[in-house]
Amino acid sequence: MAEVSVRGVTMRFGELKALDDVTLDFVDGGFFALLGPSGSGKTTLLRVIAGFLFPDEGEVRIAGQPVERVPVEKREIGMMFQNYALFPNLTVAENVGFGLRVRHVDRAEERRRVGEVLELVQLEGLGRRRPKELSGGQRQRVALARAIVTNPKVLLLDEPLSALDKALRVDMQIELKRIQREVGITTIFVTHDQEEALTLADRIGILRDGRLVQAGPPREVYNAPVDSFAARFLGEAN
Ligand code: ADP
Repeated sequence: MAEVSVRGVTMRFGELKALDDVTLDFVDGGFFALLGPSGSGKTTLLRVIAGFLFPDEGEVRIAGQPVERVPVEKREIGMMFQNYALFPNLTVAENVGFGLRVRHVDRAEERRRVGEVLELVQLEGLGRRRPKELSGGQRQRVALARAIVTNPKVLLLDEPLSALDKALRVDMQIELKRIQREVGITTIFVTHDQEEALTLADRIGILRDGRLVQAGPPREVYNAPVDSFAARFLGEAN
């Protein structure tokens, strides 16, 4: 069974169909990159999967459960968005542990788990720092640690690396892939960067005007685009 299943999802904003009958499965433990030009519906799809928006038609299930039937604090979803904000007055460890604290995890368990994820993102020893004392790349690792600290089943990433310069972005791509593999978390990654998608993902999907144009393993989509839009869009990666 797919970890995340999107069935016939249509989302309207007034006259506009931001998502138009989208059906997609995200397999357990997979790394899926959602591609498409600006305004094609990528962020809207993530927000529907997260349960922040309820679709006008269709349904999203996570591990077989309709997302809207699960209370927010029980949804096993981690998120990292482009404009992720760390709490400036909290230390790194407090930022990372925030999601555990709101779930009333006891302090000893919080310390253990925060130590574990800080090690995973290679920030061990930096728990007492404040965000302003970190580099841009380190702040991103904190944001990633915060997103996965509760052991979610699904990780939603909305252009998390697009604010970084090229060299740092490539480093973070490698890191992200390593961590995703190590944790085995089902990941849905929004990007408009075709190269990034082809590097990271084991499956990709292309959206255009709210419709899913094509989905499949990167090589397959790249070698056999279904139409000239997909061909042109992926061709830009060269
Ligand atoms: P992408 O992430 O691919 O850039 P979005 O999902 O952000 O695309 O947006 C898809 C379309 O829906 C765009 O035309 C956008 O202007 C519109 N849209 C997104 N959110 C809203 C909203 N809250 N109200 C009205 N229109 C919206």
